Amino acid sequence: MSGVKIANAIKKYEAVQVIHGVDLQVEDGEFCVFVGPSGCGKSTLLRMIAGLEETTSGTIQIGDRDVTTADPADRGVAMVFQTYALYPHMSVEQNMGFGLKMNGVPKAEIKRKVNEASQILKLDDYLDRKPKALSGGQRQRVAIGRAIVRGPEVFLFDEPLSNLDAELRVEMRVELARLHKEIGATMIYVTHDQVEAMTLADKIVVLRAGNVEQVGSPMQLYKNPDNKFVAGFIGSPGMNFLDAVAGDGSVSASALGSGDIKTAAKLPEAGSSVTLGVRPQHITLDAQGTGLTVDLVEHLGGVTYIYLNAANGERIIVEASAEVDAPKLGANVSVRFDAENVMLFDTTTEQRIR
Ligand code: ADP
Ligand code: MG
Repeated sequence: MSGVKIANAIKKYEAVQVIHGVDLQVEDGEFCVFVGPSGCGKSTLLRMIAGLEETTSGTIQIGDRDVTTADPADRGVAMVFQTYALYPHMSVEQNMGFGLKMNGVPKAEIKRKVNEASQILKLDDYLDRKPKALSGGQRQRVAIGRAIVRGPEVFLFDEPLSNLDAELRVEMRVELARLHKEIGATMIYVTHDQVEAMTLADKIVVLRAGNVEQVGSPMQLYKNPDNKFVAGFIGSPGMNFLDAVAGDGSVSASALGSGDIKTAAKLPEAGSSVTLGVRPQHITLDAQGTGLTVDLVEHLGGVTYIYLNAANGERIIVEASAEVDAPKLGANVSVRFDAENVMLFDTTTEQRIR
């Protein structure tokens, strides 16, 4: 087993630079998730680690070996893709063992490794089946099995669950977490889905336009985002952002009228414009109030989301307990923010003000 260390990695396609000097340390045995919007460079960075894309400059180390220019086959990595690409005419057992067979591994050893992997993946009963007789989740498990039998130091996953339906995705997510616990290998996992990132990761790397925005544990990023992008990306529904102005000991937001909003954040000079951030669950709704209009109510069963419109055109989403009666559409209401959980961001740089 090995960690992965990336130093000042840059990727250019011709004149276009898509990865802008990434520094990153993934610890041995860690489950690290690269998350960010489509096109931010997640797959490119993963493929650079795999050796499927050349690294333009900088270095990539796996364990204590510099693999920056090494052949993909010599890096000790195995990759699982979104499309599982199994051989349709081969059984599960043959699909899982094929790579080893091509490498001239003895039959008995292939059998032992395939059996071991199929037990971990609960595929024992399906070894003789062809891919077409498997569900999507089982096919993806076979693809993961193909990676396991190779005994890699580092597993690389590129959106492996994106082709599965919602229910199966949740199920496979749980299985992947279990798999990581069981085999304890270093895993790097790419997804655009922040819920997958939050639930699977020991460490999340938030990428945006080829740059690392922040690295931390799921709860660190959730509770202590460094900037507006991370604050808005992590958490669902996302954090509410409002234009606000710093006052003397409080802030005011035009969406809420003139009232003072308390915050635990350090205030910039009075009169500075700031962006106020508050999560839906840190807002209390007052159904007797005024100033905001109820636009939409979503009952999810356990919780209710109430979408509010302000007179200035800004919107606020409030998470309310399902036990509380939701206000009617069009009703006038007001809100109160938990001072402890009101964050401020510099309006220009979008960096957090602490
Ligand atoms: P993600 O996986 O986060 O969706 P990618 O890593 O696939 O993003 O892509 C990052 C950026 O690199 C995108 O802007 C994409 O258009 C660009 N890109 C990817 N592959 C190539 C290529 N072969 N040639 C030129 N640009 C590419
Ligand atoms: Mg991608």
